Amino acid sequence: MTRPGAGALGTGAEACVGGGVVRAFSDYSLAELEKLFAAWGHKPVHAARLLRAGYADGAGLAALDAAPADRRWPEDLAARVREEIAAGRAESVARSVAEDGTAKLLLRLADGRTVETVLMPDFRADRAAGCVSSQVGCAMGCDFCATTKTGFERNLTAGEITEQFLALRREARASGRTLQTLVFMGMGEPLLNLDAVLAAVERIADNRVGGLGWRQITISTVGIIPGIEALTATGHNFHLAVSLHAPDDATRAQLLPMGKRFPIADILAAADRFQASRGRPVTIQYCLLKGVNDAPAQARQLAEVLGGRRMHVNLLRYNPTGLSLRGHTYERTSDEAADVFAAELRARGAVAHFRRSRGREIDAACGQLRRREAAAGAAERSTHNV
Ligand code: SF4
Repeated sequence: MTRPGAGALGTGAEACVGGGVVRAFSDYSLAELEKLFAAWGHKPVHAARLLRAGYADGAGLAALDAAPADRRWPEDLAARVREEIAAGRAESVARSVAEDGTAKLLLRLADGRTVETVLMPDFRADRAAGCVSSQVGCAMGCDFCATTKTGFERNLTAGEITEQFLALRREARASGRTLQTLVFMGMGEPLLNLDAVLAAVERIADNRVGGLGWRQITISTVGIIPGIEALTATGHNFHLAVSLHAPDDATRAQLLPMGKRFPIADILAAADRFQASRGRPVTIQYCLLKGVNDAPAQARQLAEVLGGRRMHVNLLRYNPTGLSLRGHTYERTSDEAADVFAAELRARGAVAHFRRSRGREIDAACGQLRRREAAAGAAERSTHNV
């Protein structure tokens, strides 16, 4: 593990100008910036130009200074943007890079809270995938997850989610890669912060702004059925991933308290409706936990539950996170047992893949870097108090 230390992201918490709270570059949708520029007496077209330039490599407002000589911004517009729009709302306070190139960033927000975001290199040397958080902490209480141990603090704003995307684009660019796909699988349950998530996705996907494309984005949920229905209703072409982690409701409820509220059959019915409306397979996430959900009989039961659905099962290898909320110590399934589980699924017609385990030595499971940094900060504070 290397830990190059903290680096600036944007200019941090420039939240006040002239005594008033200002919005940051990442807070603006295209329509909002067009309206603002029009109110300032400038052509709205400059709004799309500025957003596109600022999102292209994650530079944000620094794009104002990078414009070539023949494409300079009107000087009075550039001056007013610098004066009235904050450059950023987050700064990088920790960065860990694993041997496989996985980079985990801890971003501190304007209110001092922190979130994690991760860049994962692709098999192709020039590509990478990003993973962003949607909330600070999480209320879902999944027993094997590090994030939930610190509880839920608050929803992220669309700007704070977008800020992670910009940071990932900068990180990708610095490592000679292009950020190709984005998943909402970091801290938090995206469907419990749906308005902000959708507003951020719109900016990130839109060709006039982030330009990543709808199909390059995956939104993951523990199975919040009203949220899945709301995603279906948007008509947008992103992917949906549903975390099942068990083939039956009783086992699932032990692992995910939310499982008591939404039965597997109802979740899959909602996923069916999403899939039917998009024509592309939903991903079923299944984190293998030794002796809990990884028996061959459970694989057979999962295949039966999925029936003939054209969904993809994504098998995840667990990164241990220590003692769980309910006092369990979950363990990683052995390679042999994982292979048997996958073979049982495939023998019954299910499409099953293993997701590559990323950056194990850098606390790659969500919430671990944040907890480690919080513990280090607490230790430092107590040292200072001595
Ligand atoms: S696994 Fe995801 S939904 Fe579950 S507690 Fe962790 S962050 Fe929340």
